[in-house]
Amino acid sequence: MAAEYNVYKAFHQRSITDREGFWAEQGQLIDWHKPWTKVLDYSRPPFAKWYVGGETNLCHNAIDRHLDARADQKALVYLSTEVDVEQAYTYRELHAEVNRCAAILQSLGVAKGDRVIIYMPMIPEAAFAMLACARIGAIHSVVFGGFAASSLAARIDDAKPKLVVSSDAGMRAGKAVPYKHLLDEAIRLSSFPPEKVLLVNRGIDKGMAMVAGRDEDYAELRARHMDAKVPVTWLESNEPSYILYTSGTTGKPKGVQRDVGGHAVALTASMKHIYCGAAGQTMFTTSDIGWVVGHSYIVYGPLLAGMTTILYEGTPIRPDPGIWWKIVQDYKPTVMFSSPTAIRVLKKQDPAYLKKYDVSSIKMLFLAGEPLDEPTHRWISDALEIPVVDHYWQTETGWPILTAVPGIEKTPIKFGSPSFPAYGYDLKLLREADASEAGPDEKAVVAIVPPLPPGVMSTVWGDDDRFVRTYFSTFSKKLVYSTFDWGIRDKDGYHFILGRTDDVINVAGHRLGTREIEEAIQAHSNIAEVAVVGVADALKGQMPVAFAVVKDVSKIATPAARAAHEKEVMATVDRQLGAIGRPARVHFVTMLPKTRSGKMLRRTMQALAEGRDPGDLTTIEDPTALEQIRDALAGR
Ligand code: AMP
Repeated sequence: MAAEYNVYKAFHQRSITDREGFWAEQGQLIDWHKPWTKVLDYSRPPFAKWYVGGETNLCHNAIDRHLDARADQKALVYLSTEVDVEQAYTYRELHAEVNRCAAILQSLGVAKGDRVIIYMPMIPEAAFAMLACARIGAIHSVVFGGFAASSLAARIDDAKPKLVVSSDAGMRAGKAVPYKHLLDEAIRLSSFPPEKVLLVNRGIDKGMAMVAGRDEDYAELRARHMDAKVPVTWLESNEPSYILYTSGTTGKPKGVQRDVGGHAVALTASMKHIYCGAAGQTMFTTSDIGWVVGHSYIVYGPLLAGMTTILYEGTPIRPDPGIWWKIVQDYKPTVMFSSPTAIRVLKKQDPAYLKKYDVSSIKMLFLAGEPLDEPTHRWISDALEIPVVDHYWQTETGWPILTAVPGIEKTPIKFGSPSFPAYGYDLKLLREADASEAGPDEKAVVAIVPPLPPGVMSTVWGDDDRFVRTYFSTFSKKLVYSTFDWGIRDKDGYHFILGRTDDVINVAGHRLGTREIEEAIQAHSNIAEVAVVGVADALKGQMPVAFAVVKDVSKIATPAARAAHEKEVMATVDRQLGAIGRPARVHFVTMLPKTRSGKMLRRTMQALAEGRDPGDLTTIEDPTALEQIRDALAGR
């Protein structure tokens, strides 16, 4: 790396060579009820325990500790262009609401260690419920509202929640999303139905039916707990705070488990060193609470830092493509966080929308979740005339792995690059063949040498073996965490992410396992076999495309029947997984390309679908299968 980034380099270096000293200092950024006895316990690799013996609480650090200095400052601003509401909560009001919610949870039998699934639209009660869980030591698991009933059921079965918090409906682009209806269906499918369901009735689904003895009304219970004061439950730093499910190569999502103390420290430190967000300022993160970005940078991070956070229910283009910039003008965030897909959406709109509003409050825009292409990076930097920081991280890490660290040193930005390893990450680019370190500009696996820093997942919920097997067994010679991403480092030390090493695809910044989509498609009664690949898409980064073999070909005998069948298969995915996993196309073939040993040639199909050379085809069992793929793609 060029020598001039000495301040960053020294900061990063110390975080690796003097881990305990470095993180002991960062640990001072939050309140501890009881001090830790050991900063790091790494006696059982690769499991790392941070701030051992220390007792703290996320809700205390996010709300209570700010009450003295900023009770009347806005903590949470809820904006909805879907139901046309603007509502702000000060820290005092947020404290009161979270206490009420915590009392409700307790009245429904939720105690420390119990799981609570939160399946909710972007409404303030979703944040109240998360923080209330944190307050009483319950473990929340937020499930994104776009997931369908069976995906939700799989998460219910794994987390075995005592309670599900939900709502009658959400609104997306003017259309109602029937949360309660989907939840009822999920509970019907589940092997571990929750005892209680707490429902925020927004009055969107007028016909919402309540199940007697199980379903409770939030407003009714809230009215009973208006003056509730629920003391925080102090938790040992390594106790679980939340579970967030994410996709991998198997059909079964993994429950990423996060701790309490390390998580609180990591997020608070990131607000200071990476996002440069100070108490009293405002942060606008355009994600959804169902994703890790929403957890870390809509709810916890900004509140831990004493900032005002904006919770926005709506799309970037309704009522018009100026809506985000209007929000910026009205609420003056200093830092904004979004995704490359959203910026590409805005890039297609009339630039006048951006010029119409005063966006000068934003000092930096952070983008993450998927590769940020150079033209988009350049376009938004020029349009806003501020640094646009591409940064790279994963649900597993909870905070950035690769990023500029402007709070430490303002390093120049290279378009298309998420810059350098964040402090705490001993990041290596390892050759796939022998785990040796790659040279400059050499494509290799992005790996992290454990112990993983604070805030990164502590294990897979209920399955330590799976944690080790999944993340630490890529290389037999080295115990390292694999990100499952390819990357390169250029001669100046800047990193570039080149895509996944596994069968995971990234649609508009959302991670989907091709196996999950294949399983959803297989739920259609006429599908014998299917392969799903991620195909490059100018707007969403990637889109799933399916190649399916049907059982009864008479059902696709005519072009019209084919088209109808394709729609049916797509609808099956909507029902099984959610519209988020719906393939852009389902091509019907009579055979899929496989190796002689029966391995599906996904990369070959992907190359053909992207119009690339499929490479070496000597292992293919029957070359006519490839011809079928070519013909299907050509519409023959
Ligand atoms: P998720 O856990 O759903 O956020 O997905 C994480 C994955 O998204 C990573 O493993 C990468 O493949 C991709 N990703 C996230 N951020 C970036 C980025 N800034 N550049 C390139 N890929 C990214």
